[in-house]
Amino acid sequence: MAHIVVLGAGIGGMPGAYELREVLDKEHAITVVNASESFQFTPSNPWLAVGWRTREAITLPLEPVLKKHGINFIAGWVEKIDATANKLILKNGQEVGYDYLLIATGPRLAFDEVPGSGPVSGFTQSVCTVDHAEKSYDDFQKLLADPGPVVVGAVQFASCFGPAYEYATILDTALCKQQLRNKVPMTFVTSEPYIGHLGLGGVGDSRGLLEHEFRNRHIKWITNAKVTKVEVGKMFVDEHNESGEVIKQHELPFKHAMLLPGFKGVDPVAGVEGLCNPRGFVIVDEHQRSPKYPNIYSAGVCIAIPPVEATPVPTGAPKTGYMIESMVTAIVRNIKAELTGYPVASKATWNAFCLADLGDTGAAFVALPQIPPRNVTWFKKGKWVHYAKIAFEKYFMHKMRTGVSEPIFEKWALKMIGVVRLKKD
Ligand SMILES: Cc1cc2nc3c(=O)[nH]c(=O)nc-3n(C[C@H](O)[C@H](O)[C@H](O)COP(=O)(O)OP(=O)(O)OC[C@H]3O[C@@H](n4cnc5c(N)ncnc54)[C@H](O)[C@@H]3O)c2cc1C
Repeated sequence: MAHIVVLGAGIGGMPGAYELREVLDKEHAITVVNASESFQFTPSNPWLAVGWRTREAITLPLEPVLKKHGINFIAGWVEKIDATANKLILKNGQEVGYDYLLIATGPRLAFDEVPGSGPVSGFTQSVCTVDHAEKSYDDFQKLLADPGPVVVGAVQFASCFGPAYEYATILDTALCKQQLRNKVPMTFVTSEPYIGHLGLGGVGDSRGLLEHEFRNRHIKWITNAKVTKVEVGKMFVDEHNESGEVIKQHELPFKHAMLLPGFKGVDPVAGVEGLCNPRGFVIVDEHQRSPKYPNIYSAGVCIAIPPVEATPVPTGAPKTGYMIESMVTAIVRNIKAELTGYPVASKATWNAFCLADLGDTGAAFVALPQIPPRNVTWFKKGKWVHYAKIAFEKYFMHKMRTGVSEPIFEKWALKMIGVVRLKKD
């Protein structure tokens, strides 16, 4: 009998635990360890930040749903991973041993890299967690009461740009509904070399379509931007040229600002000798397995993947939901192979497929493979994406409640657009 521990119950960890339970014999035990007692559907946070969702609608208590499916659950922060002794040590001192470990800890939000940024000890808001989005909603209320300039964006070393575009356009829509948009000048600040780069070198005509969207909405932008510091109501931004030289320095006043931070690996993962790259992301081979610790697998935002291309201001490549689920499927197959005496062979496709809500419309993209030139590229805009994203939220929450990792219709619907979870070779 083997004990498989899934560390992190987010978009990667939860499908991972369910899929493991589905394919492994009952004699093997599965335990999920997560910092909080509930699952949160991160993609809906921008809606929460303008009051279009409640915490209850996008979170789910973990223990009852996991227990129902025969999966153990421990709520608590893991302080240390002892990878040579195969055990986790929690903040309360509890030790959890494992035969296989699936690390799906998501990002450490590196607000500390930009002085004055972040919702805890800085002056900017965030939509990265439900707690942050709720705090941002309070700040949004203040903006409604006393309108003024807004800055939205993503800083240097950010690798997740979609939610910044989503929040800017959702906020624009929410302000229009309140008849207050005329009192709110908006600026988008991003480390991307151009609007619509998305950390992916662009997808189809993402540049043209998103620039058009911003022009239509009177959102100004600064690209190749490095945010150097934030003070109360003021953001300091260095704009760079293609050679990486500073060409202009901006002081942007704001009443409300939302900045996505750079991502790093969480400390207990980053601290394991030989497991991670310098930013604390888990190094994995083509089978999602640590080359140093063969019984450790990893999926999601916490793994190391190289940037798609070098940019004048550092940016990273995004890890989107479906890409993460494909990593998880490969891991589950590989653990099953090891437990049944077969060689590890499954490889994830890492295909980028994403739905972005733009408030009153939306944008969907598929990039196969993630690094250009690509076999399949499309980027489409339309109101249907707005509704598709709402449907996706309901659908994913349903999947997490019922414990099905990939229903058959999902498999066939995605196959029709060329998106599959595992590589054929
Ligand atoms: C605001 C936002 C919106 C996004 N929207 C989309 C979208 O629309 N579509 C899309 O495809 N992608 C989207 N993404 C990208 C990606 O899908 C999400 O970031 C996703 O949540 C990543 O999943 P994950 O499992 O890697 O990490 P997470 O979902 O962040 O889960 C990590 C879990 O690990 C736990 N954890 C971490 N460290 C420890 C520890 N030491 N001890 C115990 N528990 C720990 C955390 O508490 C958390 O529950 C979005 C990202 C953000 C930030």
